[in-house]
Amino acid sequence: MGKSRPPIPKELQLSIFRRDRWVCRWCNRPVIFAPVMRLIERDVRLARNGAPLSYYHAHWTRAGAPLLDELGAVIDHVEAYSTGGANSEDNLATACNKCNGRKSSASLKKWGGRVMRKPIKGKYGEPQHWDGLSGVFVILAQRDPVGLTASDRTWLKVFTKGLKVHSRGHACGVQ
Ligand SMILES: [Zn+2]
Repeated sequence: MGKSRPPIPKELQLSIFRRDRWVCRWCNRPVIFAPVMRLIERDVRLARNGAPLSYYHAHWTRAGAPLLDELGAVIDHVEAYSTGGANSEDNLATACNKCNGRKSSASLKKWGGRVMRKPIKGKYGEPQHWDGLSGVFVILAQRDPVGLTASDRTWLKVFTKGLKVHSRGHACGVQ
């Protein structure tokens, strides 16, 4: 077993996701902020009397959460932590769950930056304002704070830091 990996602070994770515009470094696919899927599933299940849905699963299994199995956003160590890669911004990249799983702990040298999935290319350009559905997370979390996990609450704080919440409840950036 290698060195155990200290958790990456959520603020740092968010700055990496934003820097990378919520797109996988390796395959260029747009990624999804996973906690939003749990909140969406909660809402939809309520509306459907609890009928099961495959929007969210804690382990992002294909059976339980196919979208996250493919496109769940993770922070990837470019140089693996176990081989000395740091938790620093330039060693961290946004990745989709598939690329992260395939790269696993192979060092960058060994992996050689090989692209494990063919990178996609936009015929009409790259996403301009994709946010991994994190904006939906903020809205749903603020609307119904009961039942948020401790992790959700921390995320909400991180997302809304520096944002001013208006009396009507929506947040917007302040200069
Ligand atoms: Zn990818």
